[in-house]
Amino acid sequence: MIRFLDLKAVNSLPGLNLGKIVKEVAENGWYLKGPYTRRFEQAYAEYIGTRHCVGCGNGLDALTLILRAYMEMGRLHRGDEVIVPANTYIATILSITENGLIPVLVEPDIDTLQIDERLIESAITPRTRAIMIVHLYGRCAYTAEIGRIVSRHNLLLIEDNAQAHGCCFGERKTGSLGHAAAHSFYPTKNLGALGDAGAITTDDDELASVAVALGNYGSDRRYHFRYEGRNSRIDELQAAVLLAKLSLLDQWNQRRRDIAHFYHQNISHPLITIPGNDNNPSSSINPSSEKSDSVYHLFPVLSPCRDQIRAHLLDAGIETDVHYPVPPHLQPCYQRLGEGCHLPITERIHNEIFSLPCNPALTDSQAAHIAETINALRELRVES
Ligand SMILES: *Cc1c(COP(=O)(O)O)cnc(C)c1O
Repeated sequence: MIRFLDLKAVNSLPGLNLGKIVKEVAENGWYLKGPYTRRFEQAYAEYIGTRHCVGCGNGLDALTLILRAYMEMGRLHRGDEVIVPANTYIATILSITENGLIPVLVEPDIDTLQIDERLIESAITPRTRAIMIVHLYGRCAYTAEIGRIVSRHNLLLIEDNAQAHGCCFGERKTGSLGHAAAHSFYPTKNLGALGDAGAITTDDDELASVAVALGNYGSDRRYHFRYEGRNSRIDELQAAVLLAKLSLLDQWNQRRRDIAHFYHQNISHPLITIPGNDNNPSSSINPSSEKSDSVYHLFPVLSPCRDQIRAHLLDAGIETDVHYPVPPHLQPCYQRLGEGCHLPITERIHNEIFSLPCNPALTDSQAAHIAETINALRELRVES
């Protein structure tokens, strides 16, 4: 059986000794806001290319704290609109509504699955204050055009970099392209902890210090509470694990890229479309947009007969997964967002998408077996 993601295998890859790290932290006697946290924050800021990295409890907290900090700074106000891709993980949207802001959902480009830069300007209203881009599936969502729109309309640009640690836009890393970025180190992410962890990166000194205070009960000095904050910390164990894994991240991302390249070259089935594959006969990738980098957090493909294909693959011993089956605007909690909205591309993606195994523990022979098994699925008919 080829598991979709065998985290035990990933965390046992050469170059990593997590048992030793756990023991070191346990015996160190300092479990929060200690030396590992400082070292990780410093190393991660340097890696991403920002002045600051603020560790926090998880990716949702990182997103929420960024928006909350901008509200405390007077840059955002309740009822302001934030432009966001309609096909994102729910956490992106939760961070917006949790702060009393209004998410404005924009359709993705079917070829890249990222927010469609051509549709952003028509979604801007006098209440628009920010764009939150999501580097979904590990692919860079930023484009030079998005940068121009942000400047032209004097907006904040916030990146949800939960899925794209190490991804580049030219020489710069995602997480350093906007005014602030949120990172999740949930165990399945490219840089994953042994539990929950997250971080904010930014070049903005004020944002960084407000975010630090908000994540520490709102305290800007000891036992003095300037904001109604919360408790959101990265702990020493996670920081130590992440510090060790950070030194392997580029190598692991390269392994993901190699597997993805192999899939692009070798998977060919009339009922399966690989987004962003220049070999797609139907590909209409916006010629003005640069070919974007990806660190392949996931390897999504589209098929009108997804469920049949997934069942066949499972019978053949290959696990796949769906990211994500239902978009935010069709979730029970967000009925109000779904009312009157027309998002056919997002809905098509969620109906057709599924992810093939793609992670640094997957072997060449497993990847070859996956491609061969898919190519051999011949007798499928489109469900009607
Ligand atoms: C994982 C994820 C989050 C949330 O991160 P947590 O650490 O699970 O809170 C936010 N946005 C996206 C796009 C994610 O994939």
